[in-house]
Amino acid sequence: MTGNPTIAFVGLGNMGRPMVSRLVAAGASVRAFDASLPAMEAMRTAGVETVGSLTEAMTGADVLVTMLPAGRHVVAVSQEAYPLLTRGALHIDCSSIDIASAKAIHASAVAHGFHSVDAPVSGGTGGAEAGSLTFMLGGDPAAVERARPILEPMAGRIVHCGEAAAGQAAKICNNMILGISMIGVCEAFVLGEKLGLSHQALFDVASKSSGQCWSLTSYCPVPGPVPTSPANNEYRPGFAAALMAKDLGLSQAAAGDAHFETPMGALARTLYDRLLDEGGGERDFSAMIEFLRGAATTTSTEDAR
Ligand code: NAD
Repeated sequence: MTGNPTIAFVGLGNMGRPMVSRLVAAGASVRAFDASLPAMEAMRTAGVETVGSLTEAMTGADVLVTMLPAGRHVVAVSQEAYPLLTRGALHIDCSSIDIASAKAIHASAVAHGFHSVDAPVSGGTGGAEAGSLTFMLGGDPAAVERARPILEPMAGRIVHCGEAAAGQAAKICNNMILGISMIGVCEAFVLGEKLGLSHQALFDVASKSSGQCWSLTSYCPVPGPVPTSPANNEYRPGFAAALMAKDLGLSQAAAGDAHFETPMGALARTLYDRLLDEGGGERDFSAMIEFLRGAATTTSTEDAR
């Protein structure tokens, strides 16, 4: 690999586009590609040229970075890409995917003589734009050290979590916390509304009190207190509810494989599935608050006395 490796970046969605922009701004040589023409157009609008096909992106590339919705997409792209990459290439998969797919991708990469790192991220589109994402890495130490300088322009923090798929394990656990905590914050704001409390008053108290969490202070589900949150933009994602439902499905599958019950994670998954059933899959996951506002209640004050 040369001093400035050629990076094929596949997946120019809400996360991939700002990640590519950070790489290009840092002087990286990037071939950006997405299967969706509107995503490619949006990338060009952001000032980054795209290539016309996956083959064009891959042929002779030193590094493949994938930022795709789910395991099946990463498996499909890897199968097409691996025969075209340079010898000894590096695959960094930043998507949030299931452990079995992540392990299969590592095994296939190693069989092709490549280094492979699973590197899912936390920090959302804001973190991607600011270059402050937390990367959770799984893979052998040599692969991880090779991935570090590629990831640095996009990263606030890079944590090596362990061997292959350990990054996905960390991501699955982190997003189970996020899914649960967002529902808690949404419920508190709706209850506050019912009790005559202003959004700003609840935010001013909880953001500095024991209710503080990322769902509240970085991603507040009501418009106003955090001007950059999707609530101020009609709940356009951001992080789509369908992706949160997917991640909660991953944590439930992982918990099942580990023979461990996660009751709050299970309930969060049920609620996100219901949001999807009502057509909310393409809205930001903080639109959970609108779903909860519409939910009927059967419990009364009497029950709490
Ligand atoms: P997204 O749906 O906005 O983008 C995914 C992109 O992948 C789309 O543009 C789609 O056209 C493209 N794609 C799908 N299959 C393809 C293929 N075979 N070849 C080329 N392109 C293909 O998703 P996103 O929000 O950017 O998230 C990407 C990943 O990052 C997901 O796994 C998600 O769970 C994870 N993630 C998202 C966030 C967030 O805040 N959005 C935060 C952390 C992690």
